[in-house]
Amino acid sequence: MTNSCDIAVVGAGPVGGTLALALAARGRKVLLVDKAGLKPMEHPDFDGRAYAIAHGCQPLLREAGLWERLPFAPCPIKDIDVTDGKPGRAPSPLRLHFDHKAVGDDPFGWIIEARSVRVALNAALAQSSVIVRAPAEAEVARNEAEAVVRVGSETFTAKLVVAAEGRQSPLREQAGIGITRLPYKQTAVIFALAHERPHNNVALEHFLPAGPLAVLPMTGTAEHPNVSAIVFTESDANAKLLYGMDDAALAGQVHARLGDRLGGFTLAGRRWIYPLQAMYAQRYFDTRLALAGDAAHGVHPIAGQGLNLGLRDAAALLELLAAAEDPGADSVLRAYQARQRPINMAMLLGMDALDRLFSTNFPPVRLARDLGLAAVERMPRLKRRFMLAAMGR
Ligand SMILES: Cc1cc2nc3c(=O)[nH]c(=O)nc-3n(C[C@H](O)[C@H](O)[C@H](O)COP(=O)(O)OP(=O)(O)OC[C@H]3O[C@@H](n4cnc5c(N)ncnc54)[C@H](O)[C@@H]3O)c2cc1C
Repeated sequence: MTNSCDIAVVGAGPVGGTLALALAARGRKVLLVDKAGLKPMEHPDFDGRAYAIAHGCQPLLREAGLWERLPFAPCPIKDIDVTDGKPGRAPSPLRLHFDHKAVGDDPFGWIIEARSVRVALNAALAQSSVIVRAPAEAEVARNEAEAVVRVGSETFTAKLVVAAEGRQSPLREQAGIGITRLPYKQTAVIFALAHERPHNNVALEHFLPAGPLAVLPMTGTAEHPNVSAIVFTESDANAKLLYGMDDAALAGQVHARLGDRLGGFTLAGRRWIYPLQAMYAQRYFDTRLALAGDAAHGVHPIAGQGLNLGLRDAAALLELLAAAEDPGADSVLRAYQARQRPINMAMLLGMDALDRLFSTNFPPVRLARDLGLAAVERMPRLKRRFMLAAMGR
């Protein structure tokens, strides 16, 4: 028997899952397939991974029914500090400081634990009309009229298939959509720090010659009242060394870069390692197929924008599909690409430029960028523009 649906979303990660839920909330019949099993609703241990979610993405998470289901309170980002330094030295006194009060009462965004997003997604999916098949493989055939999605012994037809399978997207490959990769020769080591002093809701981007060190404020737990997520970017070889160090040695490496800003600290939760690479797809669509999230683009995590871009893809699709009689029509897919690709490319190139500008030890460049930071610090209108961009407005 063949079941018909409006839209099939392949990949139930944060982008695909959110899109499927929001489409279903708007009355669309949606199939969602993931090759991995969606873990049952549970609270796995604190694992230190977190997303920075821009203020502008909150309405979509609410519409999808995720925001109110987050089991751990999101931590508001009220201030952002940008500093420059060298290992073993205190950050340069020439810094950029962004205070959310300069643009209103709302925070720039929130740090949300990755496990919190997963738990909310699973809970919302279980209570929604979305037809979920996971773990399962989707076999997709597309033509001008429709897409046919085979999942095990079941067959579904859909007007549109959204590939939200992350960076290694088989549907993107099947459609022959090429990608361009920008390797960084950098790897991020991710973990959480339990620290003595409160973070005061300040997110820190500390630029170092081998790559940035991000300190993202998290909501404390009973065990760790003051806790921050760390994204420690280093050369590939050094990151491997950091990843293999014992907790005290790794904490010592962080201290050599951050100094006493957080007081004494220890590692909390697990640690993770991710080789970094930016990449972008040459096209965002093919016949009855749209790419969304990391399947379409991957950016340097320097400013924590990766998931935000994916959520904005989902919001754009949602808006365009609301007005479309045929969700897979060529005109809809072209409009989606025209809207999202330039924005995503600008972010990708901006993050790339920022990383290259700061990942050098060449003294004249160091001096120029420190003076640049200090100059921007004295330009309230430019700072305001940066702040609104960080909020996703
Ligand atoms: C070190 C690091 C730090 C980051 N920090 C941040 C941050 O602070 N803020 C932020 O916004 N972003 C951040 N990101 C980026 C963010 O993690 C990604 O942008 C985000 O996970 C993309 O979501 P997605 O749903 O598109 O893809 P994914 O999260 O990759 O999910 C893809 C889903 O598709 C499924 N899948 C894969 N293949 C198939 C298949 N063949 N069939 C069916 N299902 C399939 C997978 O099982 C998975 O569930 C960071 C990334 C890195 C590497």
